[in-house]
Amino acid sequence: MKIAVVGTGYVGLVSAACFAELGHEVIGVDIDAAKVKMLSQGKSTIYEPGLEEVLQRNLKSGRLSFTTKLTDALPDCRVLFCAVATPPNEDYTADLRAVFTVCEETAKHLDHDLVFVNKSTVPVGTGKECEEKIAAILEERKVKLHVPVISNPEFLREGTAVQDTLHPDRIIVGINGDGVAQRMMDELYLPLTRVKHPIVFMSRESAEIVKYASNAFLAAKISFANMLSELCEVAGGSIRDVTKGMGLDERIGPRFLHAGIGYGGSCFPKDVKALQAIGRKHDVPMHLIRATQDVNDRQRERFFQRILNHFPREANVCVWGLSFKPNTDDLREAPSIDLLHMLIATGHTIRAYDPVAMENMKKYFSKSVTYLSDPLEAAKGADAVVLLTEWDIFRGIDLRQLKKTMKGRDLFDGRNVYEPKEVEAAGLNYHGIGISA
Ligand code: NAD
Repeated sequence: MKIAVVGTGYVGLVSAACFAELGHEVIGVDIDAAKVKMLSQGKSTIYEPGLEEVLQRNLKSGRLSFTTKLTDALPDCRVLFCAVATPPNEDYTADLRAVFTVCEETAKHLDHDLVFVNKSTVPVGTGKECEEKIAAILEERKVKLHVPVISNPEFLREGTAVQDTLHPDRIIVGINGDGVAQRMMDELYLPLTRVKHPIVFMSRESAEIVKYASNAFLAAKISFANMLSELCEVAGGSIRDVTKGMGLDERIGPRFLHAGIGYGGSCFPKDVKALQAIGRKHDVPMHLIRATQDVNDRQRERFFQRILNHFPREANVCVWGLSFKPNTDDLREAPSIDLLHMLIATGHTIRAYDPVAMENMKKYFSKSVTYLSDPLEAAKGADAVVLLTEWDIFRGIDLRQLKKTMKGRDLFDGRNVYEPKEVEAAGLNYHGIGISA
């Protein structure tokens, strides 16, 4: 099937490449000409395991191509995925301008029936608004076309995005009674449903809510563990044992029940805030979601304050891990950015290491941070090492070697990666999360 994916960022690029991998003919559209040029040459614009291979294979097969012009993608296109960003406005509502631009541009140039799919994360009711905008333009043009707008939220996780897209837990499709759109989505996803990946059809409104609900629930699980980590620190106890004890209950489960410095990234913080804004709009209190955010903010501040309590100013600090989570170079809402600002403001000297995100971080901090190509090299002469991202390379560090390399002895473990006893046996002071001092 010939499809277009508009917006080739983290979601759009992975979706476009994977739909081509599943045998569809895909054109990726992006207004960023530099991005389109790189992608057309087979170079991935993001770090995502396995993506470049899929990209190159499908460019070569001729099933995948990229353009800056939406009008290049429209001829014979049967399904258009809108995968542009929906960043927060100042009041944390979702900024839908890019989504509406894609609707309007599509409606202005379309000359045949097409299913318009919102893959971007959008508040409940957005699909209806898109449909109205498209219908108004078609009417103005006096063109009679069938252009249903449906919702197909994306659940891929950065770092495992290709795997998640080719082997999804579920495919959620929100359609309000349009048989043509439903048949089209059935056909499009057949390569996945044939091998038993479930597709669930529901109303457009439900699908729009599922996306925010899923992210907010996962964020709440993280905040739940983080809230209890503070109790463990003050009252005694170990959050690792507490969450292990809880997670063995099948109804609770162990995943996302880890204490740390809290969630970051381009989705959880934005979607947790947006869901509160949606609640405000509809006059429905979102107390749990508000608390999720408060705990997350507090957890990050508490961890940073601990570092400052030990090193108020002008120390040598090594930061391990800059991306908001492992296996991605994405720095959006990464705790590292706040930490670096704080360390710079307090006159610390900073050396940092991250396996893939250092180039991106240089755009924020070019001179005030020294970037090293090896974790132990970054720790040379450090008074303190602060681990922010649980990349595998940090798990395997020789702690005795680390002790010899550092000047000081303090290891702040923002992700509870290390066993406190092992760190202390290596002669270092361990500062983890959720254990009483
Ligand atoms: P992104 O910022 O990485 O990519 C958006 C792309 O859209 C950019 O390349 C931008 O140049 C392009 N763009 C903007 N306006 C355009 C237009 N008018 N025409 C064509 N291209 C245009 O964003 P992302 O992380 O891929 O997120 C996209 C959407 O998917 C958001 O709503 C996000 O909430 C949602 N989402 C993201 C993730 C994730 O892990 N990143 C996961 C699930 C859902």
